[in-house]
Amino acid sequence: MRIGILALQGAFIEHKYALDKLGVESFEIRQKRDIEKPFDALIIPGGESTVIGKLLHKLDLFEPIKKMIEDGMPVWGTCAGLILLAKNIVGEDAHLGLMDMTVKRNAYGKQIDSFSQEVVIPEVSENPFPLVFIRAPWIESVGENVNVLCELNGHIVAARQDNMLVTSFHPELTDNTAFTEYFLKMI
Ligand code: GLN
Repeated sequence: MRIGILALQGAFIEHKYALDKLGVESFEIRQKRDIEKPFDALIIPGGESTVIGKLLHKLDLFEPIKKMIEDGMPVWGTCAGLILLAKNIVGEDAHLGLMDMTVKRNAYGKQIDSFSQEVVIPEVSENPFPLVFIRAPWIESVGENVNVLCELNGHIVAARQDNMLVTSFHPELTDNTAFTEYFLKMI
């Protein structure tokens, strides 16, 4: 199994460390050439969604990546990655526009920029999982084909639609690999 990690900007290396820990091969996607060889799944990391979105277009990665996901490649978007996958973004144009949900960027901004909280996500693990939020979005609403995995204080923070998994928090910034293992099971 080979997992491509979009490495244009943001917290991509931490995903690699988590996969290394689980003995799973991964590689960084920085240009079109990098996606020529076959691979099994894609991670779109956290960072700044507007910057990553612009770079995807500039590097001619936008269309091929969109097509791969449409064709069923398993993808996990964390934080900015979640925003990039969303069909609707409050007050802004969508990027890849693939997952049937409306997201609000920097949703926790006025309350607190970054925080961490432990919750049990039954589909992922029976043990509490640490949710780390960094200028995080939340999901305001989802279509009926989307499975909500985790809600926090009335807002959706993890969800799945077919081959697409999204988290508004950063599992890769913790020592806990349960979420990464959950993604691997989707492949
Ligand atoms: N605030 C960022 C954005 O709107 C996301 C933050 C993150 O990925 N940690 O794109």
